[in-house]
Amino acid sequence: MDAARPGEVLAFIGIGANQGDRVAQCEAAVARLGATPGVRVLAVSTWRETAPVGPVAQGPFINGAAALATSLAPRALLDVCLDIERAMGRRRTVRWGPRVIDLDILLYGDRVIDEPGLCVPHPEMCARPFVLGPLAELAPDLVHPLTGATMADLAAAGGA
Ligand code: ATP
Ligand code: CA
Ligand code: CA
Repeated sequence: MDAARPGEVLAFIGIGANQGDRVAQCEAAVARLGATPGVRVLAVSTWRETAPVGPVAQGPFINGAAALATSLAPRALLDVCLDIERAMGRRRTVRWGPRVIDLDILLYGDRVIDEPGLCVPHPEMCARPFVLGPLAELAPDLVHPLTGATMADLAAAGGA
């Protein structure tokens, strides 16, 4: 995987969909990310199908993750993600409900951010095998800035 250059930060985006042509939508979201000024897509994980979690009955997800090198600040990157979701037709109805695309900032360098509307590392990532698997594929030696554990270790622990 290519490295981030001076002025860029290595960030990871969690990607998911459980409505429509799920893989095509995940790939379209990656293409949109890559077409965004200030964003370079360095690598994309394999896609995996995962059963839905949470209180809402819905169909299975396709999940994966992308490694980005970005010169965008965290808020700007979040806005890019939310804009792509909107442009692809996501409508927020029920929380954790079905969606044509979901883009979460999982990691932004080693930054720890806890603000209204933006929490990084993503607070649920360590509990979600469908996030840890793709991260371990892309960056097994990458260290979680809060726990110090590598992505490989977190994935092997299974997402507790
Ligand atoms: P979860 O966050 O548990 O995966 P979700 O992805 O279904 O749930 P959404 O409805 O997509 O949740 O997002 C709700 C809000 O979460 C967004 O509007 C955004 O402001 C906020 N948010 C906080 N931290 C992040 C992050 N790291 N990445 C993306 N959105 C975030
Ligand atoms: Ca999510
Ligand atoms: Ca989200």
